[in-house]
Amino acid sequence: MEDKKLTIALAGNPNSGKTTVFNNLTGSRQHVGNYPGVTVEKKEGFVNYRDYRITVVDLPGTYSLTAHSQDEIVARNFIVGEKSDVVIDIIDSSNLERNLYLAVQIMELGVPLILALNMSDLAEKKGLKINPEKLGALLGVPVVMTIATKNIAMKELLDKAIELYERKHPLERPSIRYGREVEKQLNLLEEAISPYKNITDSYSARWIALKLLEQDAEVIKMAESSPEGQKILKSAETASLYLRRIYGDDPEVVIAERRYGFISGACDEAVKKNFELRHDISDMIDMVLLNRLLGLPIFLVLLWITFKMVFYVSEPFMKALEIVVAAIGQWVGGMLPQGSALQSLIVEGVIGGVGSVLVFLPVIYILYFALAILEDTGYMARAAFLMDKFMHKIGLHGRSFIPMILGFGCSLPGIMATRTIEDENDRLTTLLVVPFMSCGARLPIYILFIGAFFPEEWAGNVLFSIYVVGIIVAIVLGKVFRKYLFKGQTGPFVMELPPYRMPTMKALLIHMAERGGLYLKKAGTIIFAGCVIMWFLSNFPWNPRYAKDYDALIQKAEGNAEVVSKWEREKAMEKMEKSYAGILGRILAPAFRPLGFRDWRLGVGLIGGVFAKEIVVGTLGTLYATGDTEAEGDQSLRKALKRAKRSDGTPYYTPLVAYSVMIFCLLYLPCLATLAVIRKETNSWRWPAFTFFYTISVAWVISFMVYQGGVLLGLG
Ligand code: GDP
Ligand code: MG
Repeated sequence: MEDKKLTIALAGNPNSGKTTVFNNLTGSRQHVGNYPGVTVEKKEGFVNYRDYRITVVDLPGTYSLTAHSQDEIVARNFIVGEKSDVVIDIIDSSNLERNLYLAVQIMELGVPLILALNMSDLAEKKGLKINPEKLGALLGVPVVMTIATKNIAMKELLDKAIELYERKHPLERPSIRYGREVEKQLNLLEEAISPYKNITDSYSARWIALKLLEQDAEVIKMAESSPEGQKILKSAETASLYLRRIYGDDPEVVIAERRYGFISGACDEAVKKNFELRHDISDMIDMVLLNRLLGLPIFLVLLWITFKMVFYVSEPFMKALEIVVAAIGQWVGGMLPQGSALQSLIVEGVIGGVGSVLVFLPVIYILYFALAILEDTGYMARAAFLMDKFMHKIGLHGRSFIPMILGFGCSLPGIMATRTIEDENDRLTTLLVVPFMSCGARLPIYILFIGAFFPEEWAGNVLFSIYVVGIIVAIVLGKVFRKYLFKGQTGPFVMELPPYRMPTMKALLIHMAERGGLYLKKAGTIIFAGCVIMWFLSNFPWNPRYAKDYDALIQKAEGNAEVVSKWEREKAMEKMEKSYAGILGRILAPAFRPLGFRDWRLGVGLIGGVFAKEIVVGTLGTLYATGDTEAEGDQSLRKALKRAKRSDGTPYYTPLVAYSVMIFCLLYLPCLATLAVIRKETNSWRWPAFTFFYTISVAWVISFMVYQGGVLLGLG
C-alpha cells in the first residue's frame, strides 16, 4: 500500500524549541536548503509514522505574521500557500502570552493548527499552571504540553496532527472581536472585497481586510497590481483615517492591543499563576519606571547620572595614568640616543601616541561598567521599551535604541548589537547611524578643545551639546535612510520585559572586561599602527633640505640658550612642514578652509583620526610639540593650540573654530575598526564604502554650516 502523505510546518517564535522538536521528529533524515527566491534557510525532514510519510518543515522563527520581515513573509507564504497540511506552533510556555500572539495570527489564517506548549518544564518552574484542555477549548485548537529537550510528547504531536488532518469538519474557532468601530470598518471592507473571487480564492475577505488595516506591505503590494485592488486600497485608506481619528492611534496598534487582550483573557481562564515574589516586585518597580509621564524623564536622568558618574569616578585614575605615561616617556627617552629617529619613534610615536590613548582607559572601563549595570538589572530592556513609541514616530525601530546607547561607549559593540534587530531594513539603518553616537574615543578631542577654548563654566554644556548634535544627526539620517534607502514598514516591537535582577559583581566585571578588552586590543593593534604611521609621515624625510643652515646657526649661538632653542624650534618647524604629513596637509588645506580649519597641522591630525579617533589628539600632540621632544601631556597641547598663529598674527583657533572642529570629529568617518565591523556585519564592501563617503560629506556640510553660520552671526 502506498504511504499517505502529510506535510507539517513547525512555526514559532525564535528560541521556542522549534529546531529541537524538528530534530526529535525527524532524527537524521533532514535536508537543508533555501526557500525559493530568498536566502532564508529551509530545513526539511521526514518521518514515517503510522501509515503516513510525514514531511516536517522547520519554518523561520517569527514573532508575528505581518509582512514586516523576510522571515515573516516566508513563514506566512508557506503556511498560506497550502504547502502545509497542518501547522504546529511551538510555544515557549514560560512566555505564554507573548508566544500566543503568533498563534492567534495563524488561527486567523484559518489553517489547521496545533499548539505545542513546549518548555512546560520551565513554565512550571516559573510557577505557571497551564490547563491545556481549557486553553484548547477557548482557542478552538488542540493543545499538547511538550518538553522537547526530554523528547516528551513528541508522538502525541504526530497523533494530533493526523487526527486533525483526517477530520472532515474543521474545529469551531472563536474569532477575535476588534471592537465596534474596527469591526464596522472590517465589515465595510469585506463587502468591498468579497465580489472579487480571484482575491478570495486563497485568503478570506476578513483576513485581507484585517491585513489592509494593519498596513501589511505584501497584501498592499498585491492589491496595487489590479484596478479593483486599487479601489479596495482607497476604501482601506479611508477606513484607516477614520479609525485613526477615533482612536488617536494607528489601526495596527489598536488591532495588536485587541489581540493581546484576547490572549490575556484566555490565559486568565486557563492559566493559574503562582508568580515568584520577584515578579511582583518587578511589576511594582515598572509601575514607576514605565510610567507614561515619568518613564522618559526618569530614563534621561538615569542616563545623565550615569555619564556624570563615569567622568567623576574616572578622573583620579586618568590623572594618575597621565603621570605614569609621561614618566615612562621620559625614562625611556633618556635611555635612547638623543635626537635619533629611534628615540623619536618610541617617545613621540609609540608612548606619546598609544599612551595618550591608554590614559582614557579608565573612562572607558567605568562607562562599560555603568552600562553593564543598566543592562544586567533589566533596565535597558525597559529603556528600549520606553523609547519604542518615540522611535516609531521617527521611523526607527524600538530595538535600534540599545545599539545606539552602546554606541556611546564604542561603535563596535553597538554595531554588533544590531544583530538583535530582525528586520534587515531596520538593522542596516541602525548600523549606519550608530557611528554618530559619540563614542569614547572622541572624548579626548572634545576635552582638549573645550579645555583650550571655552570657559570652565561652559565646558559641561558644550560637551553635552556635542553629544546631542550626534543623536540628532543619527535620528535625522536614520529617518532619511529609512525613507529613501531602506524602504518598507518598520516592524512592531514586542519585547518581553525580564524581571529585575540584582546583577552579580562577577557578571558585571565580565561584561566590562569583555568590552574593555576590545578597546585595549584596539590600542595594541590599530592605534599602535596608526601612531607609528603618523609619526613616520610627520618625521620623514628625516633630513630635508633646509632653507637655512640651522646647524651652523646653532653652533654660532653656542651658550645663548634662548637663541639656540629658537633655532631648534624653527628647524623642527621647517622639518615638519617639509615632511610627508606637511605636504599632505597643504594639499588638503583648501578643502578644510571653508570650515575654518586654517592650520594644515589640524588637517593632518584629522587624517590620523581615520585609524582611530584617539589618534587625532596623538598626532596634534606630535605636530604642535614644536622643538621640544618632552611629552608634557595635553595641558601643554592646549596651550600650543591657543598660541598657534598665522603669519599675520591672527590666531588659528577661536571658540567657533574649535566647535566646528569638534563637530567635524564627531561626524566624520568612524574609525577603521568600525568600517571593518560594518563590512563583516553586512557581508559586503558596499556599506563600509558608503559609510566612508557619506559620513565625510555629512561632517563637512554640518561643520560648514556651524562655522559659516557662526561667522555670519559675528561669532567668528
Ligand atoms: P528554535 O529557535 O525555536 O529553533 O529553538 P531551539 O530548538 O534552538 O531551542 C532553543 C533552546 O531551548 C535550546 O537551548 C533548547 O535546548 C532549549 N529547549 C527546547 N525545548 C525545550 C524544553 O522543552 N525545555 C527546556 N528547558 N528547554 C528547551
Ligand atoms: Mg531554530
